[in-house]
Amino acid sequence: MIDVDGIVRIIEERKAKTIGLQFPEGLKRQGPGIAKDVEARTGALVIVSGDPCYGACDIDDSLLDMVDVLFHFGHSRLMDDDRIVFIEYHHEVEVDTAIRNALPLLGQKVGIVTTVQHIHMLKRMEQLLIEAGKTPVIARGDSRITYPGQLLGCNFSATPAGVDTVLYVGSGNFHPMGAQLSTGVPVIAADPFTGEARKVDVEKIMRQRYALMAKAMDAKKWGIIIGTKTGQKRLELARRIKETAGDATLISIREITPDRLLSFKVDAYVSTVCPRVAIDDAGRFGVPVLTPVEFDIVKGLRKWEDLAFDEIKGE
Ligand code: SF4
Repeated sequence: MIDVDGIVRIIEERKAKTIGLQFPEGLKRQGPGIAKDVEARTGALVIVSGDPCYGACDIDDSLLDMVDVLFHFGHSRLMDDDRIVFIEYHHEVEVDTAIRNALPLLGQKVGIVTTVQHIHMLKRMEQLLIEAGKTPVIARGDSRITYPGQLLGCNFSATPAGVDTVLYVGSGNFHPMGAQLSTGVPVIAADPFTGEARKVDVEKIMRQRYALMAKAMDAKKWGIIIGTKTGQKRLELARRIKETAGDATLISIREITPDRLLSFKVDAYVSTVCPRVAIDDAGRFGVPVLTPVEFDIVKGLRKWEDLAFDEIKGE
């Protein structure tokens, strides 16, 4: 449920005349209704971003330049800019069933991690583990992470060390696989939407990644992809990779598609943008698209057994 009263209050406090609204794909359909409501209650001109939005890193900069305040929905704060107001979205779904189903799979000392959509249930998660006689551990991540216990798809720094098992509460595979690869301890994923719990298996993804790295060993020409989204720019990293790669071109792309990559006729890419792009979309690209971690392995700068998901770290 989006708090329109809170949005109206901020607009009035700031005496803002032009407002931007930016939604992730799952919330976009609420855009026209909220825009109409806000316009009627404040008299401000409201513009809704129609571009794709995948995370708090993905600010619509062009829209931001046109408005007094940009409300960015669905994600927690990632950067400090007074013109941007992050409005989180919390799923109103109970976690009890999924966690109870996870209990037989957990060790004694359990690290808890989740996404911002379930972060308001963190206390309840902790309480359920204590009631079951477990020792829950919640850690604080780096500066990219707003809440203790929160994961991003590009940052697993809030995954506790020194535990027997990690409990991930949420849906999807990417976050729990990243947590497992970053800690090396078993991760149990408990999905509040289905109530199911399972042990996370990273074997298949590891095999896929090793196959792509093996293919990239023969690459003569490299493309190094640089992101243009505010929270995904890693120019220094791209520069370092270019120096190691040999015959390499730095290429800036906002939205990566297979067609855009095919145009350049290179043998392999290294993506320094959102770490999920290289992993989630691997099957769509005609050539290997590696993460910086994988590139280092191919070039002998890191051991093959040290494969981990790429992360964009804060301070
Ligand atoms: S870089 Fe990717 S995983 Fe990280 S916040 Fe942005 S969209 Fe999410």
